[in-house]
Amino acid sequence: MKTIRKLIEVMRQKMPLKSLRLRIFAIVLVAGLVPGLIVGVGIVQNYEDRAVEHRISTVQNQLKIVANHLISNDYMANYRSEEQTYRNSRDVVDAELEMLSNLYEGRVMIINSNFKVVKDTYGISQGKIMISEEVIKCFQGENLSNYDPEHGYIEMTTPIMDTTANAGEQEVVKGVMLTSISNGSIVAMMEMLNRRVMIIETLLALAIVTLAIILSVMMTRPFNRITQAIMDVNAGYSDASISVPDYAETVHIVDAFNQLLARMRALDQSRQEFVANVSHELKTPMTSVKVLADSLLVEQDVPAQLYREFMEDIVSEIDRENKIITDLLALVKMDKKVQDLNITSLNINDLVELILKRLRPIARKKDVEVVFESMRPVVAEVDEVKMTLIMTNLVENAIKYNKEHGWIKVELDADHQYFTFTVSDSGIGIPEDSLAHICERFYRVDKSHSREIGGTGLGLSITKSAVLMHRGTLTINSVEGEGSSFVVKIPLNYIVS
Ligand code: ADP
Repeated sequence: MKTIRKLIEVMRQKMPLKSLRLRIFAIVLVAGLVPGLIVGVGIVQNYEDRAVEHRISTVQNQLKIVANHLISNDYMANYRSEEQTYRNSRDVVDAELEMLSNLYEGRVMIINSNFKVVKDTYGISQGKIMISEEVIKCFQGENLSNYDPEHGYIEMTTPIMDTTANAGEQEVVKGVMLTSISNGSIVAMMEMLNRRVMIIETLLALAIVTLAIILSVMMTRPFNRITQAIMDVNAGYSDASISVPDYAETVHIVDAFNQLLARMRALDQSRQEFVANVSHELKTPMTSVKVLADSLLVEQDVPAQLYREFMEDIVSEIDRENKIITDLLALVKMDKKVQDLNITSLNINDLVELILKRLRPIARKKDVEVVFESMRPVVAEVDEVKMTLIMTNLVENAIKYNKEHGWIKVELDADHQYFTFTVSDSGIGIPEDSLAHICERFYRVDKSHSREIGGTGLGLSITKSAVLMHRGTLTINSVEGEGSSFVVKIPLNYIVS
């Protein structure tokens, strides 16, 4: 009992109710056992029907022969006659009847047309009247048989026909033979058959259970391998791609997992790169500050003018550090959820005017002319702070990377769905191979030049994130040495996902 309980417990652990293994096991078991059981029951049942049928027809044939003898010996008419010839022929027929009833462990009764029992091999009902539905039907010429498995006998009626009637004359039923025989031999045979079927079915069940266990374990093994491989990756033993090519399904799962793994690796790498870049970018101004301060400390009697110059440099480095930190914070904010957007309906023309008003003095310093061309009044649902950041960054870049006496053209247009904000410049342009990377964090075409003019390499990255948060697009066109154009396309109505 204990071992069975233990076995069930182990099975439950290995095959929880929802497991595929259990389902395969159950399906194989049912598919294997049910037909076997049905066939087994069918064989026994079929044997019983056939055996009863066969027994009835054999006995009926014998009875017909005896019936003929009854007629030929005129048994029905002379059953009481004491004449020697009649007695002899009656004894012959009686012996036949006796033999028949012994052979089939049964009882035969001969009933004459007055429903009187003229012969009963049991000797009980002789001389009595026997009227039953079967007997009456038999007198009308019907052969009836009835199997009663509960009481273990087969009952049948056989008409005794007058075969001596001439051709053309109607055959007359002179009497009826009412026979009941035991089904003992059929039952014995069926018991043996049942035993055999049971043995075969037990062996079959054992084979099917073994097959079900083997199949369920084998068919689910690839899934275990996937789980193990994923666990290995999770635990850090391996970071190689998984391969379990056993089924099309496992290939799909593994493909999806490998894609996820590749994405996570790329994310991890970009995070590492980002951390390395941030550290490097933050370290550079600090190194400059330290070099400047050290040289002031080492020198003795430093003239006040030099002190001032160095201090100015230190302040500008600190400003730079500050700008990097501000930009980084802005970037982190962009990475947050879209819910952080503060969407309001805004007059974009006014916003552009305001931004250009702030930036024009800086452009003027570089002798860059800024032109604003508005095709139509535009009102859109945007986040004002982020929109200001987008526009300021693009116009600032156009000033920073412009040539002397250059120009900037800012255009604002809209259709019924989107508004477009375009900043074109006559600046230094962007090399073709850099165009794809221009929006990456800390990417700068010319690092030293960008640093010189106070760039952090984060501006376009921030801009792109802000545009995407508005479900817009940023398109960049540029020819190196000739100029660039940045096109921002944003839906007029904010699309809530
Ligand atoms: P930065 O702070 O260095 O300007 P950005 O992310 O704004 O960083 O820009 C990334 C790089 O893209 C810049 O360093 C510069 O090389 C290039 N760039 C951006 N805007 C322009 C432009 N209008 N013309 C030419 N180059 C540009």
